[in-house]
Amino acid sequence: MDNIVVLGAGYAGMTAAVGIAGRGQRVTLVNNGARFTERLRLHQVAAGQQLPKLSIPELLDGTGVEFVDGWVGGIDLAARTVRVGERVIGYDRLVYALGGVPDTAGVPGVEEYAFTLDQAEAVQVTDTVVCGTGLTGVETAAELAEAGHRVVLVGRAEPGAELNAKARAYLQRVLGELGVEVRRGEVVKVLRDEVVLDSGETISTGQVIWAGGVRGSELARAAGLEVDELDRVVTDAALRSVSHPEVYAVGDAAAVRQEFGVLHGTCQSGMPTGVHAATSIVRELRGKAPKRFRFGYLHAPVSLGRRHAVVQFTRPDGTAKRAWLSGRVAVWYKETVSSAPWPSFRRMVKVPASGTVAWRRGGRYTR
Ligand SMILES: Cc1cc2nc3c(=O)[nH]c(=O)nc-3n(C[C@H](O)[C@H](O)[C@H](O)COP(=O)(O)OP(=O)(O)OC[C@H]3O[C@@H](n4cnc5c(N)ncnc54)[C@H](O)[C@@H]3O)c2cc1C
Repeated sequence: MDNIVVLGAGYAGMTAAVGIAGRGQRVTLVNNGARFTERLRLHQVAAGQQLPKLSIPELLDGTGVEFVDGWVGGIDLAARTVRVGERVIGYDRLVYALGGVPDTAGVPGVEEYAFTLDQAEAVQVTDTVVCGTGLTGVETAAELAEAGHRVVLVGRAEPGAELNAKARAYLQRVLGELGVEVRRGEVVKVLRDEVVLDSGETISTGQVIWAGGVRGSELARAAGLEVDELDRVVTDAALRSVSHPEVYAVGDAAAVRQEFGVLHGTCQSGMPTGVHAATSIVRELRGKAPKRFRFGYLHAPVSLGRRHAVVQFTRPDGTAKRAWLSGRVAVWYKETVSSAPWPSFRRMVKVPASGTVAWRRGGRYTR
């Protein structure tokens, strides 16, 4: 039987592994840690909230997936092996699903002094500058402010720039009510207790949180897979590496091109890529050609602390539509979306096709 190895048990890797196992193929899943990281909720962790402990081996019990808890140190594409600590694991097909790492390299001082959400621990200092006005920075600033922190949110773009005018105005009003101070500008330097902007202005703080974007880990480039400028694996229309077609790349680790451009990393797109890799690998093993991956965005749900949220409905290319939600219904919607993946994995263990059905319309897996 062919040996399939999935690297990374995040949203995309878990989806791929259960999808493959459910179709009767042996699969090995490697991840650094047995607890599932709910990346969607890392801003809650930063604000000191306790999340339930979701055990990957428990969920996989009885599925036939072999779970390996360890750090992937390297991939040998010629030998078709991956190195996990002392262990060398061979593969016929590889699913590369290692997600992203915070993009900390561009600005001096970030690596030395800034806290990132990937540290997955509560911020101890209550006087914080959050760098990055994308949705991750907005969610983090709001969550910390609601927990009583003094928060300055700083970035080039207006917070909520991705949303329509009404939704953006709502988001900014809630940030104001929570006491988040918004500053516009490019961060050019980070010091232990200070952030320097391109205008020369400085902001003193007790703690800097960097939410300035995500890039792929160095592993793919080091292995010799073709990657883009953000170290994401460049894929063909079926999600196979353009340089090594026996490797599928999914989730944040992949540069997946659609007609409207390259997907930006979301769980919303990551899980359908996992479903697609699973069905394509099984097709290939049965001698069939894999199909083209087609995806369109549906929404951008944004939490603003635990009591407020805004949900922007989008066109398939991710641009804002007129429809949006706020208030309690938006809080409920965001929470429903955030808690959906784990039960979905459970469902896919029992009924693998449920992944394809669930995302075929809801996530516009095919348009
Ligand atoms: C605060 C926040 C809020 C977000 N909100 C939303 C949202 O509302 N909607 C949405 O769609 N998206 C949201 N996202 C984005 C979403 O979380 C990511 O797009 C998603 O996690 C990508 O899934 P993935 O499986 O590709 O990677 P990940 O979930 O990051 O999983 C990668 C896995 O690989 C493991 N790994 C990495 N390197 C190694 C290694 N060398 N060896 C072993 N294991 C390794 C990691 O530990 C991890 O378990 C949010 C992100 C953040 C940070």
